[in-house]
Amino acid sequence: MPDKQPAVWVISGPSGVGKGTVCARLREQRPRVFYSVSLTTRDPRPGEVDGKSYHFVSPDHFDDLAAQGLLLEHAVVHGRHSYGTPRAPVEDALAKQRSVVLEIDLQGAAQVKQNMPEARLVFLEPPSWEELTRRLIGRGTEDEPALTRRLETARAEMAARHMADHRVVNDVVEDTVATLIDLMGL
Ligand code: 5GP
Repeated sequence: MPDKQPAVWVISGPSGVGKGTVCARLREQRPRVFYSVSLTTRDPRPGEVDGKSYHFVSPDHFDDLAAQGLLLEHAVVHGRHSYGTPRAPVEDALAKQRSVVLEIDLQGAAQVKQNMPEARLVFLEPPSWEELTRRLIGRGTEDEPALTRRLETARAEMAARHMADHRVVNDVVEDTVATLIDLMGL
């Protein structure tokens, strides 16, 4: 069954807001939606699987793909590693009448909006700045400099939230997912 209105949905928001958890839960509830797997030049974290969490690639390979125009968007995130969305799988999914979810940063979101003005951008907001800081520290996957970088990026990202088409406060994950399903008409 094709989706009623297949569309590209960009889910963005500051690091630590819970994009990953929200998208994982959405995926369980709406498996027909195509969830893009990004490329990244960073190393895998424990438990991450190549080809599922990300496609982990070398900086040279990443630059080659970007130069060939094979990425829908790409950006250096947290001033460090490159991340990007492979273009072909997104186009294939749309051709099959499937909606697409991209979980990417705001620089990438801006590029997607430029290339595909019909794409919808949802900005996930934390209930408060204190809560975001608590979540970032609580995750415990970052060393001190990485955490500082993430907080700086998060601050800049919070300031850019006006460019979103929809803003959703991610307080209780189940409620956020229900709101997204409703928004997306899924
Ligand atoms: P992490 O390293 O914690 O997995 O992700 C860091 C940030 O990179 C997150 O804010 C995430 O949304 C963003 N990101 C993940 N994939 C992509 C992508 O394909 N493009 C862009 N622009 N950002 C991405």
